[in-house]
Amino acid sequence: MMVNKIKKLRLNISNLQKQVLILSLVFLFVGIHCFAKDLPADKNDLKVIIFPEKPKQGDTVSVKIKKHPEVKNPPKVYFEKSKQAVFEINDTWYRSLIPLTASKKPGTYGLDVFYDDKKKNIDLIVGITDYIVEELTLTKEIAGLMTTPIERKSVGNAINAISDIRYWDGKFSYPSSGKQSTPYGVKRKINGVLNESYFHKGLDFAVPTGSKVISPAKGKVILAGHQKNGFVVNGNCVFVDHGHGVVSAFLHLSEINVKEEDIVEKGQLVGKVGGTGIATGPHLHWGIYVFGQPVEPELWVKQVVD
Ligand SMILES: [Zn+2]
Repeated sequence: MMVNKIKKLRLNISNLQKQVLILSLVFLFVGIHCFAKDLPADKNDLKVIIFPEKPKQGDTVSVKIKKHPEVKNPPKVYFEKSKQAVFEINDTWYRSLIPLTASKKPGTYGLDVFYDDKKKNIDLIVGITDYIVEELTLTKEIAGLMTTPIERKSVGNAINAISDIRYWDGKFSYPSSGKQSTPYGVKRKINGVLNESYFHKGLDFAVPTGSKVISPAKGKVILAGHQKNGFVVNGNCVFVDHGHGVVSAFLHLSEINVKEEDIVEKGQLVGKVGGTGIATGPHLHWGIYVFGQPVEPELWVKQVVD
């Protein structure tokens, strides 16, 4: 009788131990699960928005990273392993711009975003844009013109300008109300020979000499180059810095109506159309550069690049 009781007691203890063990495991599992769930949702999740969703050659890609109020350091963005400038655009978002020129090979590129202790590796797939080939005949004299050192240096500095102030707001307007002629990205056969490394780095308007050229968005004039001072290729030209690495170029002007350091409003006159520099006739060439890379200007007119 006594022996039986002891056995029963041992059995009970053993059951109790089993129950404790099972309960512990259940608590442990639930605990881990709850702990993971209890992390602040937006801190745990690195929110990145890519626009346009399906980028193609010529596009300016906007990469937005959602801010977290507790995180002080801004995110880091790398495109093809190279670090990109990141700007805080409002209380909610950081933003980085990735310029995809007409010569960017279609394919998959690595875009890495690091923020707080989180990271996101994104495959950025760049699609094809069909660009036409244009035949051009230039006189030997014009085709042989080369940029002068002063022109190369000034233009190089202007298109690579990065300012912390964002001047533009909303869509850009066209800088000329005239008829568009040569689009961005066109490849050229000059005197019958295809120039492999060349593509048209802006949008042309076929307008007569003296037609108005207006600033497509607010900005600061960072270069007013004059043909007589060595601007033999671009001719008389104006470069407007719209901020955050975005710069407009207006080439071949007959007249310049602004000076360097001027702040110009959207729609303000910057110059008059001409045919100075390398030009077959009077026209306006408008280029948009993002971190020094020529992108499709039409994208900036047709949609808001934020
Ligand atoms: Zn042009």
